[in-house]
Amino acid sequence: MAEGHAIGIDLGTTYSCVAVWQDDHAEIIANDHGNRTTRSYVTFTESKRLVGDEAFNQVGRFPANSIFDAKRLIGRKFSEDSVQKDKKLWPFKVIEGPADKPMIAVTHRGEEKKFSAEDISSMVLAKMREIAESYLCSKISEKNAVITVPSYFNDSQRQATIEAGKLAGLKVLRILNEPTAAAIAYGIDKKAGRFNKRNVIIFDWGGGTLDVSLLTIGHGAFDVKSTAGDTHLGGEDLDNRMVNYCVEEFKRKQNVDICGDAKALRKAKTACEKAKKALSFSFDTDIEIDSWYKGEDFHTNFTRDLFEEMNMDIFNKCMEPVKKCLEDAKMDISNVDDVVLVGGSSRIPKVQEILQEVFKGKELCKSMNPDEAVAYGAAVQAAVLSGNIAGKLRDFSLSDVIPMSLGIEVDEEKHMSVVIPRNTKIPIKNNESFTTFYDNQTAITFRVFEGESEFTKDNNYLGGFTIRDIPPARKGTVEADVCFSIDANGVLTVSAEILCTGQKKAITIHNDR
Ligand code: AMP
Repeated sequence: MAEGHAIGIDLGTTYSCVAVWQDDHAEIIANDHGNRTTRSYVTFTESKRLVGDEAFNQVGRFPANSIFDAKRLIGRKFSEDSVQKDKKLWPFKVIEGPADKPMIAVTHRGEEKKFSAEDISSMVLAKMREIAESYLCSKISEKNAVITVPSYFNDSQRQATIEAGKLAGLKVLRILNEPTAAAIAYGIDKKAGRFNKRNVIIFDWGGGTLDVSLLTIGHGAFDVKSTAGDTHLGGEDLDNRMVNYCVEEFKRKQNVDICGDAKALRKAKTACEKAKKALSFSFDTDIEIDSWYKGEDFHTNFTRDLFEEMNMDIFNKCMEPVKKCLEDAKMDISNVDDVVLVGGSSRIPKVQEILQEVFKGKELCKSMNPDEAVAYGAAVQAAVLSGNIAGKLRDFSLSDVIPMSLGIEVDEEKHMSVVIPRNTKIPIKNNESFTTFYDNQTAITFRVFEGESEFTKDNNYLGGFTIRDIPPARKGTVEADVCFSIDANGVLTVSAEILCTGQKKAITIHNDR
């Protein structure tokens, strides 16, 4: 078990937050600007590399060299739809790297440099580590950290996040699901979760992702029942809609299209995000962009009604994971005791209103700081994993689940046979036996997938291996024992053994596959 201080880091799409467990509570650590959350930005100026709020402050000057949203790229392939779509909106350049890996290209010190999403995330993580170290007036003991990810992150995205942690010089004690971390923060402060069992829904809507989890909490135990979400639905989608609106307005008024102008789009994004936040508290606001394009200013009044109308489909989409979560946990809304809001975008009144309607008028729990709850819970888990089991952490126990079904391709029609169904508690080990499917088959290829479709072509390929030199025999007579094992981080190892010969092979699914 790790000793000393360990930190919890919420590595967010737009903001990150770091916390440490001290004096029986989690302390959210402010950065050198006094902010308790730090922008997840990296900017390359002519001579320097800036990270965090400093990087954000230089975005206007270096739009093509200011990188954000690395979390939307991490663990993904360049050819994925979401990457192709996002690429069009980002002012920085994303190009195809080796093995279909997206790479971010910037100009630094007169040269083109390429970075992976892991590289950029590691810079943000290193910044968070420094913030914690300067607060603790010490190096973090063995640099132990718990890092959170959306619960709907797949295996590749989790592996890539661990890799980013390592690159940042951190020892990643655990990858923790964000809504689980938020639930821990909620439960720990309610007398260390020692109240009688309650079913709690965590609705966590941040800058880039939506995560919903249903947990049973009580007597110090946090038991995740189900989880669902969308790794590509967040506050930034709302900002983009507003930017598009402003671009169209400008086109209409000035007859110029600024679509391809990275600097102008960046300015609009900052102004729109500010207006969006204001609309959570007032019914209308002004969007003002000084010398937006060729010295022309832009000004428009923006109402909450218009904001809601243009984003209604997104708000409604947010309710789908809520329903899926309840179905998977085999629970009805009447079984839910608390609905807890987490993530900056959960402040939007219309989202709260729709959520409240879904839960038949139930009061939503807004008592936690939605920007800090995830880091708070991560700090709890980091402390427990470092051997701190005193005070509120006494009796702490956590059981989490996997977000997607895992299985293997079984026949020539490419059906997927599920070995571990989604929402199974982890860690877990499951064995399944398979037989050869044609006569005299001398090799079996084990192809591992995650997803919910009965056909592997619609699921996500994770990796595979082949066992050869199997003695020829009639189909269905050679038996292979396949074992899927998932550790507490949600990382999967698959092994297979041909029972009649004892031949064995195994893989741990790595990010680079
Ligand atoms: P998180 O990833 O949880 O830090 O959430 C960040 C997202 O929340 C960003 O898209 C912010 O623009 C958004 N956000 C923060 N505060 C508000 C607010 N008052 N109203 C609407 N969105 C907000």
